[in-house]
Amino acid sequence: MPELPEVETTRQGLLPHMLGKKITRVVVRDYRLRWPIPADFAASLTGLTVMAITRRGKYLLWNCRDPRTAAGGFVLSHLGMSGTLRVMLAHEAAAVAAAKHDHVDVNLDSGATIRFNDPRRFGAMLWIAGDSPVHQLLDGLGPEPLSDQFNAQHLFDRSRHRSVSVKEFIMNGHIVVGVGNIYASESLFRAGIHPARSAGKVSLKRYELLVAAIRETLTKAIAAGGSTLKDYVQTNGEVGYFQIDAFVYGRAGEACRGCSEPIKQIVQGARSTYYCGRCQR
Ligand SMILES: [Zn+2]
Repeated sequence: MPELPEVETTRQGLLPHMLGKKITRVVVRDYRLRWPIPADFAASLTGLTVMAITRRGKYLLWNCRDPRTAAGGFVLSHLGMSGTLRVMLAHEAAAVAAAKHDHVDVNLDSGATIRFNDPRRFGAMLWIAGDSPVHQLLDGLGPEPLSDQFNAQHLFDRSRHRSVSVKEFIMNGHIVVGVGNIYASESLFRAGIHPARSAGKVSLKRYELLVAAIRETLTKAIAAGGSTLKDYVQTNGEVGYFQIDAFVYGRAGEACRGCSEPIKQIVQGARSTYYCGRCQR
């Protein structure tokens, strides 16, 4: 599943190809995504210029306007479980026919095409008309993990009297957005916190360690993504799951890099968690 680093890398990959470009044509081949593509999606977008692309959690917001009147709105896109947004340059777009699961093409006046592919159709491609990106999917989202609003005090205050495990707590998008399963396991290891510990029993001091660990883990993954950016936007459109140098994730039974004890695997909230029973308390 594309996580925050993959989405941020997608954003950075789209920017140079889309900013200031006019949308000349939109082709929707299949409207049946988890949230159906609106019937007027193509008509709403066509003729507008892409003014900005921002990210909120795992959503991208394409701010599209008529440069003369400033009228327009936002494309709200999400990659779901299996989606990709691929940049095809003019020669490539002309040569490569749409394949199965290529649900949307957005053609730009540069000749490039932005192609949305999503085999499992859990993604989103929606339109928000108007000046501000207000949508129910964005309501109640927690702070961005790399912003100042995400800090130890926030986690501490929101977790008091809560018995939910700290791992599920930091994966809750209402608490903080974009801490996916891999990053939750890795961050808890770095902070030395046992994933099954009740969120309400973690001290402020330990939340400081956890916030630093989450920031470091995500920043490294984004940097790893940035180094693959060229391939990422120009080749076969496969989503790269960025190879992070995992301490615990996917290493059940292997030796902990801190203490050599075998890494353990448990299931929390239907997701696998990996941890070291000795290094994490
Ligand atoms: Zn260990």
